[in-house]
Amino acid sequence: MADFALSFDEDLEGAFLYPFGEDALALILFGAPGSGKGTQAKILSSELAMPHISTGDMLRSRMDVDDALGRTILAVMKSGQLVPDEMVNRMVEERIDQPDCQHGFILDGYPRTLRQAEMVEWLLAARGLKQLVIHLQVDYNKLVGRLTARRQCPQCGTLYNLLSKPPLVMGRCDIEGAKLTIRADDSEPVIRQRLEAYEAQTRPLIEHFRGSGCLRDVDASERPPAEIAREIRQLVEEFRASL
Ligand code: AMP
Repeated sequence: MADFALSFDEDLEGAFLYPFGEDALALILFGAPGSGKGTQAKILSSELAMPHISTGDMLRSRMDVDDALGRTILAVMKSGQLVPDEMVNRMVEERIDQPDCQHGFILDGYPRTLRQAEMVEWLLAARGLKQLVIHLQVDYNKLVGRLTARRQCPQCGTLYNLLSKPPLVMGRCDIEGAKLTIRADDSEPVIRQRLEAYEAQTRPLIEHFRGSGCLRDVDASERPPAEIAREIRQLVEEFRASL
């Protein structure tokens, strides 16, 4: 009887700790602002059937609520600084426990600090998930140009770039026809601040991930997005096969 009780408890504990599928994977898209994380996440989310979790998008929708928290987020984002770790960590923890994340998910723009990286490792270990970090490498001098040329459809979220992926009709979304918008933090002084925050707080994570063997570098400077996505899919397959 005692044995039965023990195994019953263990099963329950297992079910609680590991609700994710055995091949479930957290694919972390890592790189500087403007390195193409959002574009890759959108392509890969549909090709790999994994939900796309963008902390930037989550914060922007919270920012649209006109209350004290929404205004605080707006102020931080417009300054080009990072939102406090506790807020972002809590948002991600709640999101990955949603049923659609059971077979894995794509993280875009998270983690960005050492405390966030430690949090994600803890969250994944507690759920029996492996992490694969894809580092999108882009020549630093190209980033400002890419970000100032970025436009987005406010209705469907499609991203455009006036240099590399212009809309068919200037200023209008190909799908919705809506007037394209520029993100509030894509102005040049804010871009410089965001790049500084990346250098100081986020770039050091590369060595942290490299040390744990889960980081893969991908050249994302000049190549078409579809080609980059193909290479990432290949890396995901190799990683899964090595588990
Ligand atoms: P993104 O859309 O990923 O470029 O993020 C836009 C802005 O949202 C950043 O400049 C930060 O102010 C904030 N943000 C997004 N993700 C995070 C994060 N993981 N930690 C802290 N702040 C974040």
